[in-house]
Amino acid sequence: MKISKYPVMLLFLAVLNIHCSSGEIDRTGLVKVSERVYAFIAEGAGTAQGLGANSGFVLGDDAVLVIDSRYTPALAGQLLEAVRSVTDLPVKYLVNTHYHPDHTWGNSVFADLGAVIIARPETRQGIEKYAPVYLEYYRKEMPEKYELLVDVRITLPDSVITENTVIDLGGVEVELFYPGPAHTAGDLIVSIGSEKTLFTGGLACNGYHANMGDPGADFDNWIAALDDMEKRAPVRVVPGQGKVCGKGVFAVQKKYLLDLIEIGRSAIREEKIFSEYLPDVVIPDSEEYRQKNMIAFNIQAVYRRYMFSTVDPDFMLDTSDDFVIQDGGGNAGKGRIKWIRQNEDGYSELELLWKPANVAEVLVQDIYDDVGRHLGKNTGLHMAVLGSKKIMFGDSESNAVFGSWGRKIRSVVATGGIWTWSMMIREGKIYSVRMTTNAMGDEAMEEYNMEILEKAVSTLHFIR
Ligand SMILES: [Zn+2]
Repeated sequence: MKISKYPVMLLFLAVLNIHCSSGEIDRTGLVKVSERVYAFIAEGAGTAQGLGANSGFVLGDDAVLVIDSRYTPALAGQLLEAVRSVTDLPVKYLVNTHYHPDHTWGNSVFADLGAVIIARPETRQGIEKYAPVYLEYYRKEMPEKYELLVDVRITLPDSVITENTVIDLGGVEVELFYPGPAHTAGDLIVSIGSEKTLFTGGLACNGYHANMGDPGADFDNWIAALDDMEKRAPVRVVPGQGKVCGKGVFAVQKKYLLDLIEIGRSAIREEKIFSEYLPDVVIPDSEEYRQKNMIAFNIQAVYRRYMFSTVDPDFMLDTSDDFVIQDGGGNAGKGRIKWIRQNEDGYSELELLWKPANVAEVLVQDIYDDVGRHLGKNTGLHMAVLGSKKIMFGDSESNAVFGSWGRKIRSVVATGGIWTWSMMIREGKIYSVRMTTNAMGDEAMEEYNMEILEKAVSTLHFIR
């Protein structure tokens, strides 16, 4: 009896199909996807519409399982109303597919009903770590947006799963599986095999620019996960954003990721300055996509991920494992690598810049420009040019400024810490090393951080 509806419906949908190779359902709000599965499709990408994030639910004989709680308690309330328009059964489970606010900030509404909130440990950590910071940021910096978020009560998942899990709702089983870090460090894919239906979380979008900028994202794994989902051959796919569609969305999403990565990498290769070329970036076949602001975010993530392997700088640096590489964004034309080591006591950062330049002129100009700028502003920072000399690299002679450490502890202004710099010049390229530490006023910690940085720089050597 289930089968009888589908041939007619699929034929009809084949005519309407735009983005996916099969089966787009051109509706928002509550959409019946299959016998026991419903999607709740966001109206649009705005804050009041929950940033376009979808959610949904599965109907068992005994209980309901909700997938993602939307961006605010008010939006979660709409979702709950939709559930109630279909069934009076208890909402026993809520799955958070990942930690992003547009999927989790409505959690409190379902926790209040007694639902068990299920997620990966990385998702729980993500909410714990970032949600208070984001909320505070909106409160301070974007009060008009914060008005919509004022009711958000950060609610952590209370059931953390580390293995693929099957939940029996009576008459239907829901499978939660983890593809490894992909869109975030802790994505869950929700599959209802008997209904040939799958919820992708943030892994696939239909008509939206995907968000590739999460620090925990892994592009290779993400692409593998798309292939894997396609192999499961669902008839219906509820994407993280955009309308319900068919499995064609996986190939479309994969092409988007690969195109964007290649665009970012060739920009790095061509030494394009990120901010200047960004307005010209076009990702093929995405002209109609929503959330164009993601493009900058995504290209920046490509810089962060591929800077090293693409530019192949002429030096190597050994740093300890607790250093993380930060964004190479704004300085592609010059080349920039930044390490940050952060702990509860404060942070220390180490930045290397290199650029092709006329050696003799820039050597003088850059040093005096930097000294002049910093001293002129009376920022409290102290830079000292301690010396320069000619250095032989193989057969060629180069200028180098070295041993030019200057440091001073800042007394009053908050953004201070202590810092030091050095500059090396070789074959027309200038390599500048800057180090900063900020230990929230703890001088001993700042000294300690600076020692670590200086040790790291002492390992710097030219490869060729
Ligand atoms: Zn997301």
